[in-house]
Amino acid sequence: MSNSFKPINRILLGPGPANVHPKVLEALSKPTLGHLDPQFIELMEEIKSLLRYTFKTESGHTFVLSGPGSLGMEACLVNMIEPGDKVVVCVGGYFANRMVQIVEKIGGVAIVVKETWGRATDPQKLEDALNANPDTKVAAFVHAETSTGALSNVKVLSEIAHKHNALVVADVVTSLGATEVLVDEWQLDAVYSCSQKGLACVAGMSPVSFSERAFAHIKNRKTPIRSWFNDFNLLESYWQGSGKRAYHHTAPANQYYGLHEALRILKEEGIENAWRRHKENSAKLIKRLKDELNLEPIVPAGERIPHLLAITVPEGIDEAKVRVELLTKHNLEIGAGLGELAGKVWRIGLMGYNSNDKLVDYCVSSFKDVLKK
Ligand SMILES: *Cc1c(COP(=O)(O)O)cnc(C)c1O
Repeated sequence: MSNSFKPINRILLGPGPANVHPKVLEALSKPTLGHLDPQFIELMEEIKSLLRYTFKTESGHTFVLSGPGSLGMEACLVNMIEPGDKVVVCVGGYFANRMVQIVEKIGGVAIVVKETWGRATDPQKLEDALNANPDTKVAAFVHAETSTGALSNVKVLSEIAHKHNALVVADVVTSLGATEVLVDEWQLDAVYSCSQKGLACVAGMSPVSFSERAFAHIKNRKTPIRSWFNDFNLLESYWQGSGKRAYHHTAPANQYYGLHEALRILKEEGIENAWRRHKENSAKLIKRLKDELNLEPIVPAGERIPHLLAITVPEGIDEAKVRVELLTKHNLEIGAGLGELAGKVWRIGLMGYNSNDKLVDYCVSSFKDVLKK
């Protein structure tokens, strides 16, 4: 007979998942409801309303997909793009590269605007690509590129896209809940996020929001949406409609309780306060890593994701060994570099519930202990 699984209570300061708020863990264990139960439908309505608050949007086309952030990425792209459509994708890291792969898989023509890994996207490069490709349908970019720690100016990129009559798909997976995301003001047409980073919930849910412009664009498609699970029309018939709701898939009810609790906690704090908290704690961490350990972020000041830092590994240090020691000796998980930055950086996240003074101290003292040797 095997025993029940007992996970170690790790401190998760990597690029995600972050630690889940204790109240969210509690919410997850409440009794399960059927996915068409009237009370569950009320919960869905509340989640939609809380998500509109979180995304800063009035759009009624704001709901949740039952799957990780990558599902949101695929859903936004597969609904917005038809085979043969030109899509300009700004790529300065691993996750934007994934957007390119999806665009190509669904038959879109990807035009890649390359940026140096570790830098924010240069808006002029997007402008040049759109000038060279005036028939572009969609511009896609990542707000907070978790693989490099760079934060792009999505407001400016979106303005440029709209000036060229392209619709905008924006990845706000790492930014939502932790740094300013203003979906309506920035005119983002299709956005997606995740539950396990800034929202301090478990992984496996992807909040999405579509603008009225995106809605009209999807309704006017000449070809069918090349996905069943991600077909916006089918999803809307489950998430929308005051009276009848059509079964689409079995929503993971308990996970939705968790998401509801996470969003409720965020609203209680006030999202502007949460943005400020993330900024302040990360500023403290950056300063202390520099002053006490001479560790530096690779991203220039002004282009950094406030709550997810990529730190340059000093010469002569075995970066993997440091991560192993942090985990085994200090119970602390941080992230390695991805793609072009593999072996060159550590990635430290102070996201959601984890953005606090105590963990700034813990992170600095653990690094001190490990690097001392
Ligand atoms: C984490 C992440 C994703 C993927 O989210 P999953 O929940 O792991 O599928 C996509 N984009 C960015 C910017 C991310 O940081």
